[in-house]
Amino acid sequence: MDCIFCKIASGEIPATKVYEDEEIIAFEDISPKAPVHVLIIPRKHLATLNDAGPDQGALIGRIVLKAAGLARDRGVAEKGYRVLVNCNQDGGQEVFHLHFHLLGGRRLKGMG
Ligand code: AMP
Ligand code: ZN
Repeated sequence: MDCIFCKIASGEIPATKVYEDEEIIAFEDISPKAPVHVLIIPRKHLATLNDAGPDQGALIGRIVLKAAGLARDRGVAEKGYRVLVNCNQDGGQEVFHLHFHLLGGRRLKGMG
């Protein structure tokens, strides 16, 4: 499958990985929108959040908790950060392999 994040997960395409285990991988966003901008993905290819079902509940939970753990590791937990998922066109999704953004290190604008 021609999926850039599957290729990062397999090691076929390089990325600055900050965490990986048998289920999930975290790596630096190539075009960071904040001083801390890490993407956390499942190894399993799920195109969007719409493709995650009850069977992925624990996986999604692990990803969110990993985001919080990385925020703590980067020293932004206390000041604050944002964890977000963009889904499909209206959500602004550009890469169709489910990923959670961890953003921090600066004051992020409201959802306006
Ligand atoms: P989204 O709009 O939620 O689909 O976000 C996709 C994100 O993936 C963007 O923030 C991109 O900068 C990031 N991105 C795209 N290609 C790569 C790559 N090869 N390595 C790391 N991050 C990437
Ligand atoms: Zn994929």
